[in-house]
Amino acid sequence: LCGVVALDGPSGTGKTTAARRLATELNAGYLDTGAMYRVATLAVLRAGLDPTDPSAVAAAVRRTRVEVATDPAAPTALLNGEDVGAAIRTEEVNRAVSPVSAVPEVRELLVAEQRRVIREALAVRGGIVVDGRDIGTVVTPDAPLKVFLTASSDVRARRRSAQDSAEGRAATFEDVKASVERRDQLDSTRAVSPLRAAEDAVLLDTSELTIDEVTAKLSELADG
Ligand code: C5P
Repeated sequence: LCGVVALDGPSGTGKTTAARRLATELNAGYLDTGAMYRVATLAVLRAGLDPTDPSAVAAAVRRTRVEVATDPAAPTALLNGEDVGAAIRTEEVNRAVSPVSAVPEVRELLVAEQRRVIREALAVRGGIVVDGRDIGTVVTPDAPLKVFLTASSDVRARRRSAQDSAEGRAATFEDVKASVERRDQLDSTRAVSPLRAAEDAVLLDTSELTIDEVTAKLSELADG
């Protein structure tokens, strides 16, 4: 019964892996809000629309059913009922997701759905670990525990790159680093809900930590 644990930070900080492990340990749900923005982005790309055209993006996302499962062992992502778990991790989606998630109407729709999922998980399991960029600042500003993860951009790119090769996506380290830095820059500077630590968030630099150490630190915080 941990309530909401809000985990924010840029990509490659170990956020997603640690969040899933923490949720498993706590018997809580796990919500990957990044996956929801990725599903919305895939819908835009499949419709052949320009991801930097806000009104086209908003119209496409309004017509799309974005669903995620909150079981930390199987966090599936569905686009109009189709499992798109692999399709949302391509470089094409990486490139288009920041402009899509900067559209205010997209955020309104997805934040409403996130809050609904959170309420449901709280009712059913008593707790949920929520992974994103604006969870502590916008989605659930009253969460009892908020953690903001950081790491140097070299470390983040190295982790993303290792994850890419483990999942069969080839890219050079330099390309991954450029892609990660570009996305974080766009996410931190957008007008609505930019990537930012909540004032009362615990800051955790994971540059020198293993994923086990990050998870242990989070459980410690959740216990306290
Ligand atoms: O966490 P992940 O790297 O999958 O997130 C993909 C993208 O979705 C981020 O780069 C960001 O543009 C967007 N996002 C967001 N707000 C969130 C979660 C993700 O804008 N809460």
